[in-house]
Amino acid sequence: MTDFRSDLEAIRRSARERLDVAATAAEVETLRHELLGRSGSLTTLLRSLGSAAPEERPALGKAANEVRVEIEAAIGERLAALSGADLEARLASEAMDMSAPGRPIRVGHLHPIHTLMRDLREIFHAYGFEVFEGPEVETEEYNFELLNIPPDHPARDLWDTLYVAEPDSVEAGASRPADDGTILRTHTSPTQLRAMHALDAPIRVLTPGRCFRYEAVDASHGFEFFQIEGLVVDRDTSLADLKGMLEEVARALYGRDVATRFRPGYYPFTEPSVAFDIGCLVCGGSGCPACHRSGWMTILGAGMVHPNVLRDGGFDPDEYQGYAFGMGMDRMTMLRHGIGDIRLLFTGDLRFVTQFTEGR
Ligand SMILES: [Zn+2]
Repeated sequence: MTDFRSDLEAIRRSARERLDVAATAAEVETLRHELLGRSGSLTTLLRSLGSAAPEERPALGKAANEVRVEIEAAIGERLAALSGADLEARLASEAMDMSAPGRPIRVGHLHPIHTLMRDLREIFHAYGFEVFEGPEVETEEYNFELLNIPPDHPARDLWDTLYVAEPDSVEAGASRPADDGTILRTHTSPTQLRAMHALDAPIRVLTPGRCFRYEAVDASHGFEFFQIEGLVVDRDTSLADLKGMLEEVARALYGRDVATRFRPGYYPFTEPSVAFDIGCLVCGGSGCPACHRSGWMTILGAGMVHPNVLRDGGFDPDEYQGYAFGMGMDRMTMLRHGIGDIRLLFTGDLRFVTQFTEGR
């Protein structure tokens, strides 16, 4: 049975060689089946043992069994090595690179109107002003009457007011709801009265906020807009104080060299009233379309608080005086950034808004 021994040796060698190059666990399993399966080459060889001479059978059987044990052990080792390699390969391909930069998080920023409001708040804070906010839905009393604008006053026509009404107060067919005196504030001035009613003198407040008017919307008018007003109530305040402070504020906002001037103005709630101009930011004062060829731009209205308004606020005008000023923040924002259309400020279009990232 020299054939048996040589066949056995051939199977052993072939198994070793193929195991060495098997690259996957599946290849090893195929090999196991071909060697040790029911019709595998080693199994078939063992079956032929029956035809060997009886005295040779024990030695041949022992040799064959040793090869079988050796092959099974080698298969086990190869599988273990391959699963280790598999694991390493998986670890390599699925590894997290802890040094890789993270996905950027998009951070928003303040709207340019809000940035201006914040800057103004900081500037006026240096003069002792604090913010005092009032409601956007107001009463006619606060919006008009207490501000020296009685119902029959022609100045009421200056403000195209939006009236607020409960739905069931709208009569069928009526052109406008029953008037219960509730309106959307047309300016932030009513907050001045609310501050006077809430605070003791000396008062120094800023009243920023959103206002509403029944306006046809175009490049320079919106039905909603932002104002910021200031109010001072104290003993011995004068127009000179107002003038000096506003000049300082203009320099803080537009630079030390900005030209300023006061003109007479008119408001029902201040007496005297002034308009405050700065030299045109576009042409520097020589005259251009943006300043209607005047060289000046009006940025705010101001004046000494009317004695009637002081009285309405609970202060004796013989003892106290005050001054007030108001600015349109939309217009100031447009001047600041060279924006040509007020509607852009309210579209929420990110292509527009993300250009103003200084408010981060
Ligand atoms: Zn100009």
